[in-house]
Amino acid sequence: MIPLVLPAQAEPGVPYVTRLGRDAGVRNQAQLIEESVNSAIFAGDHGLVEIEGVPANDLDGDVVLVDPDAGRVERLFRSGSNHNTLLVTERCDQLCVMCSQPPKKTHVDRFALLEQACRLADESALIGISGGEPTLYKNELFELIENVLRNRPDLRFHVLSNAQHFTDDDIDRLRQPLWGKVAWGIPLYAADPKLHDEIVGKSGAADALEAGLARLIMAGARIELRTVVVQQNVAILSTLARFVSTNLQPIEQWSIMQLEHIGFARGRWAQLYWDHGQDFSSISEAVDLAELRGIPVRLFNFPRCTVPAAYRELVVPSISDWKRQYAQACDSCTQKAECSGFFAWHPETAMGGLIPL
Ligand code: SF4
Repeated sequence: MIPLVLPAQAEPGVPYVTRLGRDAGVRNQAQLIEESVNSAIFAGDHGLVEIEGVPANDLDGDVVLVDPDAGRVERLFRSGSNHNTLLVTERCDQLCVMCSQPPKKTHVDRFALLEQACRLADESALIGISGGEPTLYKNELFELIENVLRNRPDLRFHVLSNAQHFTDDDIDRLRQPLWGKVAWGIPLYAADPKLHDEIVGKSGAADALEAGLARLIMAGARIELRTVVVQQNVAILSTLARFVSTNLQPIEQWSIMQLEHIGFARGRWAQLYWDHGQDFSSISEAVDLAELRGIPVRLFNFPRCTVPAAYRELVVPSISDWKRQYAQACDSCTQKAECSGFFAWHPETAMGGLIPL
């Protein structure tokens, strides 16, 4: 696993954002002045910062948030990675049964720092935004995105949201051309509102989501629907496919996702996990139906060799590079480069029996 938070000693002061690099005289960049096998010292506008745990080469070009009081740096953007996501809040108004990052009651406002970081991102980068629920701080979120894109029109955003906090007033704003650089990843777990509400742990969630999706569609927003497969919805996936293809035609993509063994799902694995390697039929039925009706489908978090050959081209290497692991058998696989393997926290006992491609 690639560490995203590293111990560090910095000169006393408030948290700040900087890019790290070897070259001198680069604006907003702290320059490498000393390095050892497993640490590096940089000098920048805020003084010295010594970062431990990785060699300097690994940090070259990263954009980090330095927190002197906490004695740590957070690697907000790892240079060259396509998997950089900013966590804007840990608060959420849902309590999904499989939540990979259980919400907290408190919120630490870091929008100003995150905006600075975005302005320093690699050219043409795709920046993920997640939570918690980012739109609980909708005004701050909108301002961050608009400010960044006015300054850096080469960037793009992908925001994970439950889409329940948009109002009619947002429609005109989201119609502006700048918002064409923003895609929304929105979870929908069942066509039946009662079941969707049960899975997300919030009464009325499905109705609010339907209203939010309607507003996004009216605004011409780019929408990716996301459905995590669990035992509770696997049998009704084809009903959901029919619902999506009938009511939500303007979406760009429907992502069907395998479960992540972390957060709430870790303790509820036996009640939630659907072993698609044993039975892929409900997933294939849903995929066939959606595609037949013109909905592009992708499969996230599925090891390629565990998916029937006819559906393998839909598998996306969706697991972020920093949290992937591979089984020993993967070493001989010809498709390892196109496969994201398993989450780093996937139970080893569930990684056996692979037949490499
Ligand atoms: S053997 Fe490993 S790398 Fe190859 S498809 Fe399976 S999980 Fe992916």
